[in-house]
Amino acid sequence: MQKGEMLYEGKAKQIFATEVADEVIVKFKDDATAFNAQKRGSFDRKGEMNNAITTLIFEYLNEKGIETHFIKQLNDREQLVKKVSIIPIEMVVRNYSAGSMSQRLGIEEGIKSPITIFDLCLKEDALGDPLINDFHVLFLGLVTREELDEMYSLTGKINEILKELFDKMGIILVDFKIELGKTTDGKIILADEISPDTCRLWDKDTMKKLDKDRFRRDLGDVTEAYVEIYDRLKKALNK
Ligand code: 5GP
Repeated sequence: MQKGEMLYEGKAKQIFATEVADEVIVKFKDDATAFNAQKRGSFDRKGEMNNAITTLIFEYLNEKGIETHFIKQLNDREQLVKKVSIIPIEMVVRNYSAGSMSQRLGIEEGIKSPITIFDLCLKEDALGDPLINDFHVLFLGLVTREELDEMYSLTGKINEILKELFDKMGIILVDFKIELGKTTDGKIILADEISPDTCRLWDKDTMKKLDKDRFRRDLGDVTEAYVEIYDRLKKALNK
């Protein structure tokens, strides 16, 4: 696989062209940012862990019938993926109260929700990824009503599969964010990553946070938490 020019550089990843028009290489960096990049850090092995964790999760979702952009892992930091056009909507799912929802609603973290909560955020750094609703999505013409329904359905299915997987690992899937992309033939599939950078993961017994909140909230042992998730994931999947 020939690595071509860098097409895009985000906060935690770089995207490179390949000799195949609709395949690109994602490279996971050790850099971490939070609060719209106002807080920055770098953690040994974070990129390696997010690459490995995303690989295992995307392979598992593929097995469960969820189409993703993932093709194969290339090395410690890189994976080959289908090129998609990312839909500029962050699909956030919440099973428990935490983070921005707790702040916005003035409720404590860790309350189990009787229903799956979906939040949509506009993927626009300049605006700080604002919370939006279905009306805003349609007003902005980001996707059609039918596509949005499909996005909710796909995101809900992913939540059900992941809740069960993390439960097997002794982890509560508190909330997470995914990004969906459109293939050249218009199909909506899972893209980006699913890792401790994009999920809140709490140990079921101790409630210890094993995700990016360790960086956001200066709790220490960031790398150790990511390695712990990787180890438990491998065990749960017999890898
Ligand atoms: P919150 O809205 O509470 O900050 O985030 C909800 C969930 O979505 C958390 O698991 C958080 O990690 C994830 N999330 C939301 N927005 C982003 C984002 O821009 N980047 C990353 N890495 N995760 C996000």
